[in-house]
Amino acid sequence: MTITVAIVGRPNVGKSTLFNRLIGRRLALVDDRPGVTRDIREGIAGSGGVRFTILDTAGVCGPETVSFEADLRKMTDGAIKACDACLFVVDARAGVTGADRDLAAMLRKRASRVILLANKAEARDAVAGSHEFYALGIGEPMPISAEHGEGIGTVLDRLRMIAEERAETAERPETFRTEPGELGGACTAGNHAGRPIQIAVIGRPNAGKSTLVNRIVGYERFLTGPEAGITRDAISVSIDWRGTPVRIWDTAGLRRKSRVRERLERLSVSDALRAVRFSDVVVVLMDAGCPLESQDLKIADLAVQEGRAVVVAANKWDCGSGRRWTAADLGERFTRLLPQLRGAPLLMISARTGKGLERLQDAVVSAHDVWNRRVPTADLNRWLADMLALHPPPAPGGRRVRMRYITQVKTRPPGFIIMCSRPEEIDESYRRYLINGLRDDFDFPGTPIRLTLRARPERNPFRTGKSVRPGRRG
Ligand code: GDP
Ligand code: GDP
Repeated sequence: MTITVAIVGRPNVGKSTLFNRLIGRRLALVDDRPGVTRDIREGIAGSGGVRFTILDTAGVCGPETVSFEADLRKMTDGAIKACDACLFVVDARAGVTGADRDLAAMLRKRASRVILLANKAEARDAVAGSHEFYALGIGEPMPISAEHGEGIGTVLDRLRMIAEERAETAERPETFRTEPGELGGACTAGNHAGRPIQIAVIGRPNAGKSTLVNRIVGYERFLTGPEAGITRDAISVSIDWRGTPVRIWDTAGLRRKSRVRERLERLSVSDALRAVRFSDVVVVLMDAGCPLESQDLKIADLAVQEGRAVVVAANKWDCGSGRRWTAADLGERFTRLLPQLRGAPLLMISARTGKGLERLQDAVVSAHDVWNRRVPTADLNRWLADMLALHPPPAPGGRRVRMRYITQVKTRPPGFIIMCSRPEEIDESYRRYLINGLRDDFDFPGTPIRLTLRARPERNPFRTGKSVRPGRRG
């Protein structure tokens, strides 16, 4: 059984510390500056056979501006709607503040279950002071210390009780639901039927990643803003995207390190990488105003290296005057600069207006199909014979390399093995000839193809289970 639990509260009350404490790993960033935790992140906690998906939200009010405050409120609101229970954190040392009262008012109306936690209550006087939080109208404040791990067991007990009640009432009212996330867990590999397509949106800061994900998700789960790099961590959300179940990872963007934020940046790059590793399809998002810059190429290449299906999108296509090239020019450059992505879809979209998003969805689904495709061995071997006849392999020292057999050994991405004599004699250009042939003839556009050349073993390794006596076939 899994229930979704959101941690809410104004900045600096210790939400991230509590999150880390609950999930037992240091995934969330903890910082003294208010508002460092701006996005919702997700982790898994467990207690007595119950799993909790914990959402760590931003504070209710941001550091500087009113609009920022509004954004954060919206996001907190979204988390509250999506959850089964809320951990409302207040600071026992600071006492009740106006922001606490505002949030309490929201929670009294919205949250299905709220547990009021008076944090930083490791000192006895703070515990005494926590009684003033009765005034919030949420019920009994539970004194805890996230930092010192005090009272955490009781929090988990309360959550378990809520989970049990939930199980009895069965139906959940929300249409949107989060799934047990893989954040911090092992990457799931198999493509069991019905598994949502895992999508990561990556790109330079300000390319519009958060805007795009917001657009797709349909509400402000992620925060966007004019500053570069507001989204620092990989976070995800599961939705039904025009009939297709998907799980979308929004990432930090692979931005350059700035000295001031080095600690945050380091975490972010690894988060982006992690999002790529979790994903099936990577949407490489570029700004149409400055597309295909070296960082874009590196980001796209990263996705290829990791063996993901790739869809490339030039965003902000609504900015007519801001576009650098026409679609045709962009396409030509794309083919030239990213030969490893031959055939990958390149789409012109506007995350802001929503233009092109249907085509983006189609492209994601078909890239995913291609990535999962398996070609029958008989077809492959007929194809190989044709390829060899058309353009024979090299013959160093007058002895031609013989290629005897090809089979597809894996999908996601597609991987092939060719059994041959002296595989070390096959040069890069001949490999490319074969890979491009596979791509074109079996319709694998834009998907990384892995090709291994192997010296023929004593026995055919693809007849597993039974041994084959030498000299006999069949
Ligand atoms: P958030 O912004 O609400 O997510 O708060 P953080 O988790 O970033 O914590 C804000 C500050 O409060 C950090 O300096 C933490 O070390 C500190 N803090 C968190 N929990 C406790 C606690 O139980 N006791 C004390 N004394 N400090 C805490
Ligand atoms: P991220 O850093 O990649 O997550 O980028 P954001 O989503 O925060 O967007 C950066 C800026 O670009 C914001 O000011 C957005 O409003 C703006 N933006 C995003 N998508 C579009 C778009 O399709 N058209 C235009 N004109 N602006 C956009």
